[in-house]
Amino acid sequence: MKTKHIVIIGAGAAGIAAATRLLESGFENVLLLEAENRFGGRIHTVSFADNVVDLGAQWCHGEQGNAIYELTRDLDMLQPTDEIEGGFECIRSNKEVVAHAVIDRLKSVISNLEPTQQEGLKDYEGSLGTYITDAFWRNLQTVPDIDRVIAREFFENYKKKLCSMDGADHLFEVSGKGQHEYLDCEGDLHLNWKDKGFRSFLRFLMKADREDASDLGLLNERIQYNARVEHIEWQSSTSEIRIRLWNGELILANHVICTVSLGVLKEIHHKLFTPALPLAKCRAIDGLKLGTVDKIYLEFNKPFVPLDWPGFSLLWRDVELAELRNTEYHWLEGIINFHRVSCQPRLLQGWIIGQHARHMETLTETEVFDALLWLFKKFFSSEMPAPVRLLSTRWHSNPNFRGSYSFRSVYTDEVRTSSSDLATPILDERDGKPLLQFAGEATHSHFYSTVHGAVESGWREAQRLIAQYHEHKPLL
Ligand SMILES: Cc1cc2nc3c(=O)[nH]c(=O)nc-3n(C[C@H](O)[C@H](O)[C@H](O)COP(=O)(O)OP(=O)(O)OC[C@H]3O[C@@H](n4cnc5c(N)ncnc54)[C@H](O)[C@@H]3O)c2cc1C
Repeated sequence: MKTKHIVIIGAGAAGIAAATRLLESGFENVLLLEAENRFGGRIHTVSFADNVVDLGAQWCHGEQGNAIYELTRDLDMLQPTDEIEGGFECIRSNKEVVAHAVIDRLKSVISNLEPTQQEGLKDYEGSLGTYITDAFWRNLQTVPDIDRVIAREFFENYKKKLCSMDGADHLFEVSGKGQHEYLDCEGDLHLNWKDKGFRSFLRFLMKADREDASDLGLLNERIQYNARVEHIEWQSSTSEIRIRLWNGELILANHVICTVSLGVLKEIHHKLFTPALPLAKCRAIDGLKLGTVDKIYLEFNKPFVPLDWPGFSLLWRDVELAELRNTEYHWLEGIINFHRVSCQPRLLQGWIIGQHARHMETLTETEVFDALLWLFKKFFSSEMPAPVRLLSTRWHSNPNFRGSYSFRSVYTDEVRTSSSDLATPILDERDGKPLLQFAGEATHSHFYSTVHGAVESGWREAQRLIAQYHEHKPLL
């Protein structure tokens, strides 16, 4: 039995932000329990090709008001991502590259559809899918002589892109008015971490030595890996919380900050907590949603798409889509696009969403590889060199994540729940001190689905404890 006063479950961005803030404020008994054998959670930077790739979070989204940007702005860690700011080519499944003049006009239609800019969504009672579909076809009427077949193929691809941004399987489950809960930070929305990956930000938070990967700075000796928590026994009338790990190890705490993903909570909260969580929290766990967004990295011996292409989107024509759906490669329908990767000239990065992504997660690497070769043959007229290596993610299959990031669904509106219900701490009924606290991206009221949201949520819960002890008692 070990006794630790503050136990943080999960060493992702939220857990690391909470722990470092507490340690910097003078708390000493802080332990992070992490189910994986690494820190970072949905930030997972790995070595690949010429340096590193991010399997999870990749970009710092915005500048003003983004805690990550504001912390690192003078450190020369971030740079713009030219690759995805340029216009992608659109290739149809009959190998035709759609003319720029057509794409530019279609882009002018969707440029007016940016969900967070839609005043009409503020009181809208339906799904984002219904709203956007209606608006797209209405706006299209203002663009004369556009081929409606290509317009529809383009729009199908655009909807998948919006899904990947929301983290939803499809747009008809996404809340229309919920779009206004999310706030974009002003500034560049796609700043990347050069050849160091997002992990370099976490190491900065920990004050870890830049050169020595084994150094965890403030968190040295404070993260217990392979420590999957299976049971948390709490009582609102005592400050002793009993945490049991998968291997039977028992850990006692006075405060627990739970940062596991919404996907994990959905799957295990019924058996994780005794007594069960209050109804309002169960409703939030049920009502908030997250879907699957996966990545595919392909390494080539040398760059294979034309050098002036930042990337390309795949547009399925009806006839080839009908054929595809009858083959073992049906899941390729979920792929949105491929693009170049900063600091990695020999890589292509692809995105896949929803049920198709979950299907890909069940396949072997060879099966995914063969399917992608088939896909490129289908879309490209010229012979393509075979990729030499493939890396694809499995955010849904991994029981420590069970999905990618959270969003507001129509069902969230229906059951009238919110991230603040998820974030509300459970207090000791005798003295009002927080016993069980909740952090993580899904608990942030307007930066959910992002790392800056996760970080702020960790700070929020650390601050709750700091305020409690600084005001009333000496530090733990
Ligand atoms: C493919 C993808 C791309 C993304 N791109 C971006 C991006 O470009 N920019 C951006 O800002 N955000 C992005 N995100 C979202 C961002 O990664 C997350 O919002 C953020 O990292 C979540 O941090 P967190 O601490 O809330 O949760 P997590 O990172 O999930 O941390 C929770 C931790 O809890 C651990 N855990 C789970 N269950 C248990 C248990 N029972 N016991 C102990 N430990 C447990 C997990 O292993 C994990 O380490 C992306 C996410 C994905 C999946």
